[in-house]
Amino acid sequence: MSKKGIAILGATGSVGTQALDVIRAFPDKFEAVVLTCGSNGDLLIKQALEFKPKSVVVTDPIQYKRVKEALASQDTSVLFGEEGLIEVVQYAEVSIVLNAIVGSAGLKPTVTAIQSRKDIALANKETLVVAGELIMSLVKEYGVNMLPVDSEHSAIFQCLVGEDQNPIEKIYVTASGGPFRGRKRGELLQVTKAEALKHPNWSMGAKITIDSASLMNKGLEVIEAKWLFDVTIDQVDVIVHPESIVHSLVQFKDGSMKAQMGVPDMKLPIQYALTYPDRFENNFDRFNFMDYPTLHFEKADMETFRNLALAYETLRAGGNKSCILNAANEVVVGAFLEDNIGFLEMSDVIEQTLDKVEFIANPSLEDYMETDRIARLITKELIKD
Ligand code: NDP
Ligand code: MG
Repeated sequence: MSKKGIAILGATGSVGTQALDVIRAFPDKFEAVVLTCGSNGDLLIKQALEFKPKSVVVTDPIQYKRVKEALASQDTSVLFGEEGLIEVVQYAEVSIVLNAIVGSAGLKPTVTAIQSRKDIALANKETLVVAGELIMSLVKEYGVNMLPVDSEHSAIFQCLVGEDQNPIEKIYVTASGGPFRGRKRGELLQVTKAEALKHPNWSMGAKITIDSASLMNKGLEVIEAKWLFDVTIDQVDVIVHPESIVHSLVQFKDGSMKAQMGVPDMKLPIQYALTYPDRFENNFDRFNFMDYPTLHFEKADMETFRNLALAYETLRAGGNKSCILNAANEVVVGAFLEDNIGFLEMSDVIEQTLDKVEFIANPSLEDYMETDRIARLITKELIKD
């Protein structure tokens, strides 16, 4: 059997490095054909020397020069920027594009990969938040697989295997609740980025960790679920589950509920996206009931964590609203990480941006890109005021 060629966009990140752990564990099954980074040139060079990909792409101009020099004697070609990403996802040797870039920068490479008939293993949830309707219509048009990597969506996807004929009644997306679960607004006024970056169950990149603390991550995941599984907004519910063992649930029309469970470890959903529809034996940690004799479930607090309510509102409004939400969120999270905005102010600024950017009912790809650009400018202005 020939090896499956994988392009890992965002190979130097949290998901990207864990994807390389999976590839390292199955050298006969997978081949890293492409690896890409933003500004962590050092790590990309190390990865390129180990995996010997056909190409690497660097989006930071200074790091691009460094990586190019460092790999000059290798067979790996070094490409630059978004044009580089667009080129490598089209390679004949690539059969799956694992998109583990953070933010809406992942949108264009995903579109090109689908149009080149590549299966997509999607960690980059922002792509579906920005342009879910358009992406899923391209997935249908080009007949590719959209394989979710986000643990909740992988769980739902796994629950749906073999259920093609059976309509979904409800999807329950589980949420850990993050480090501030149980707190009220008054207790969140002074929280610091160090506190927000301490996730109780998962070790992830900075942006998604802040999103988890503010429940924006769950809001983005509700939007992601709506598009991935073609359900109505009212069919997607969030349930807080602090242990992060039940990764999500599907309820069918007969009331039966299926859950997918396991220890919180992204390597499993990453591996499943790469091996689907098969399951490969591995040595990842196993769940032990005695470590978790009790599992808890509670209602999400959308009054304290406004972001989750805002995500539902943008989904109901449709058009480019979720794109605005995402762009504003990327900017406020960046500002929070630089201590330029308070924790609770993030949702205030997002809400103001949603009111200020022009609504487009049926956006094209170009409209989404332009909405993303304008929303970022407006959010930055609002933060300055
Ligand atoms: P990280 O910040 O750890 O990694 C992001 C990766 O994208 C890095 O390789 C980074 O490069 C690269 N990158 C950043 N900005 C750009 C850009 N503008 N253009 C091209 N490449 C860029 O993020 P995570 O791995 O945590 O998350 C990646 C995606 O997966 C996000 O969408 C997140 O929401 C989603 N996800 C993550 C989970 C997790 O467990 N981490 C779980 C579920 C979903 P460099 O570091 O070299 O600058
Ligand atoms: Mg998730």
